Amino acid sequence: MVTILLLGAPGAGKGSQARLIEEEFGYKQISTGDLLRKEISDNTDLGMQVKGIIDKGELVSDDIIFEMLEHRIKESDCNKGIIFDGFPRNISQAERFPSLLGKKLDFVINIEVPFDVIIKRLSSRRQCTSCGAVYNAISNPTNVDDVCDKCYGHVIQRDDDKEETVKNRLEVYTKQTEPLIEYYKNKGNFYTFDGNRDIKVIFEEIKELLNK
Ligand code: AMP
Repeated sequence: MVTILLLGAPGAGKGSQARLIEEEFGYKQISTGDLLRKEISDNTDLGMQVKGIIDKGELVSDDIIFEMLEHRIKESDCNKGIIFDGFPRNISQAERFPSLLGKKLDFVINIEVPFDVIIKRLSSRRQCTSCGAVYNAISNPTNVDDVCDKCYGHVIQRDDDKEETVKNRLEVYTKQTEPLIEYYKNKGNFYTFDGNRDIKVIFEEIKELLNK
């Protein structure tokens, strides 16, 4: 089983790259953000519990994340490989990660994008509420307004992509998530990509790395 970790600020393009890797290599994207949003849209107890936290741009508790992941990685569609997108989010999750995975990560891919670009991107980002496909109202709009090209689901602006939450998410990223770069840099298999380029250009480079 191949295991890939995608690091980067919200809006750096982790989800877009994860989907391209999934299509090309057949590894499964696991986005903890998508899993949490599914709980919210299904109105589960867990969804109710985390909604306020996500809307504020704070992190949900490590225990919730690990319990959710334990179930998800056991599913058979993960046998070939997993792309972790949005997890770990802090050092304590990273330290607990090996016990969940039982093996070393094969690739840690860090996608770097300046914050001013991120802020612009997030304000025009749109996402399908059914399949999670990501669009951009300016640079990559849906063919039909608010309708997903892939699954015909409803495409919206995420509540936490609104300006007031984005600021806090970037602060949380800087304080809690960015230190993971140093943490993983020292462990090997660490690669940084300039994410301020066309999605496909970045993917070609990532593909080359994964094919090595
Ligand atoms: P994302 O879609 O990855 O930007 O995640 C959206 C929100 O879900 C985050 O702002 C957090 O509130 C929550 N979240 C996602 N992944 C994690 C995680 N690994 N640990 C804690 N909270 C998370």
